[in-house]
Amino acid sequence: MNGPAPVFQLLPESVLRERGQREVFCGLTGIVWLHRKMQDAFFLVVGSRTCAHLLQSAAGVMIFAEPRFGTAILDERDLAGLADAHDEIDRVVADLLARRPDIRTLFLVGSCPSEVIKLDLARAAERLNGRVAPGVRVLNYSGSGIETTFTQGEDACLAALVAELPAAAPEAPPSLLVAGALPDVVEDQLSRLLSAIGIPAVHFLPARRRGELPAVGPSTRLLLAQPFLADTARALAARGARHLPAAFPFGIEGTTAWLEAAAAAFGIGPEVVERVTRPARERAQAALARHRPLLAGKRVFFFPDSQLEVPLARFLSRELGMDLVEVGTPYLHRQHLAPELAWLPAGTQLSEGQDVDRQLDRCRAAQPDLVVCGLGLANPLEAEGLTTKWSIELVFTPVHGYEQAGDLAGLFARPLDRRQRLAA
Ligand code: SF4
Repeated sequence: MNGPAPVFQLLPESVLRERGQREVFCGLTGIVWLHRKMQDAFFLVVGSRTCAHLLQSAAGVMIFAEPRFGTAILDERDLAGLADAHDEIDRVVADLLARRPDIRTLFLVGSCPSEVIKLDLARAAERLNGRVAPGVRVLNYSGSGIETTFTQGEDACLAALVAELPAAAPEAPPSLLVAGALPDVVEDQLSRLLSAIGIPAVHFLPARRRGELPAVGPSTRLLLAQPFLADTARALAARGARHLPAAFPFGIEGTTAWLEAAAAAFGIGPEVVERVTRPARERAQAALARHRPLLAGKRVFFFPDSQLEVPLARFLSRELGMDLVEVGTPYLHRQHLAPELAWLPAGTQLSEGQDVDRQLDRCRAAQPDLVVCGLGLANPLEAEGLTTKWSIELVFTPVHGYEQAGDLAGLFARPLDRRQRLAA
């Protein structure tokens, strides 16, 4: 007779701590999905030609309208301290706002070069607000690649936005705030489910437009849609919001647990969630069943990249029967990930931080069926005969919720399918 599966316990020996060379994109990458989400915002990177090239190549193929981002290039004179970079920023912003009167929020985004020359963008934002507020609000955050990973750009952006949220009235009834940029179609699906469950007021951060920024206060119940929002959660907690611990809405189990956490905070039982979500869960089951034969029993190795690794590993292991060789993550937020960690199989090897050479050695020794890693590692590993999945695609693609569970499984199945066909 089978007993219950042994439960993962986060013991010190479960986590390898790595502090070596890193291979990740910087936080500027977040602009690629954030500029599509916030329809009256503009992201002005104060950086180098390298920063401009990164954004162009990451976002270039996805631009269908005039982009809502650009780069104010710091040239040699700025970097040598010969020109006043603040005057330059003022000039670029004045030109931009004259050309684009639709902009309501302007983010000055710091980069490695602006950090190295210690350009004070908070001061620049304050000065510019004196001229352009309230029609336009100027905020700043850093997307620099120094000590950050690519999803932290979104965290820094949303944390900056928290200061802009109006205060909820002390007597305001409880409301739900979902934090994390979701594609509009996914946001609409989750919004419909949450309201069908009976949650009266649901808001999302970031809002699509500046005028839709939700109020926040002690009546706010905070549900994270992404696992990489430590600073945003801290900023919202400082405004009085109460975090609801929950698994993340990836796959059927994660989405159900996430909805149940929201429902419980409003006194609604799991039986309501079960009834409301049954059709969507059945559709998701059918979609997952198509991918399970290819994925079940395959061994997967996660390099640390997006901070989505732990929830995705849980999804692949529990809903698709994959074996976890190693689950690397840049940062392991023990509190936000607690419900996810409890769902990992006993003995799962986690690693936190990166030492790319050591991880490559472990990966080559293990010869997993699938490696989830950044673009820089994928090509060399493919050349060695390993099958890879680009982790950045998991952030660019709609993957949350029931309706996307099959697509999420498909992202992992596709490289294995391709490898099988090539071998045949
Ligand atoms: Fe490169 Fe730093 Fe610019 Fe990112 S912010 S593109 S890591 S120079």
